[in-house]
Amino acid sequence: MDSIKPGGNSEREPAQLSVSIDQDLCIGNGMCWSIAPEAFAEQPGGQSAPTDPSAPPLDRLLEAAASCPVAAVSVSDRSTGRALELPF
Ligand code: SF4
Repeated sequence: MDSIKPGGNSEREPAQLSVSIDQDLCIGNGMCWSIAPEAFAEQPGGQSAPTDPSAPPLDRLLEAAASCPVAAVSVSDRSTGRALELPF
């Protein structure tokens, strides 16, 4: 698993990343969209869906993903498909 840390020590840009949410895990508590509302949105059923991972700064995108209490959010490198280790 690749490692990526907040603070811009990666060459990756948010546009190079893909975000997915495991709908079987998501409990809809809203942590992700409260931290990065540009990248996550509440669906009608109360769960989260990824919207635009390139919209927030990278650090905040990763903070939002790492804040998920049930680890439902995955962030991958779009070019390799490899999941990134979240920073927290
Ligand atoms: S933080 Fe996790 S559990 Fe909460 S809404 Fe986002 S994906 Fe769902």
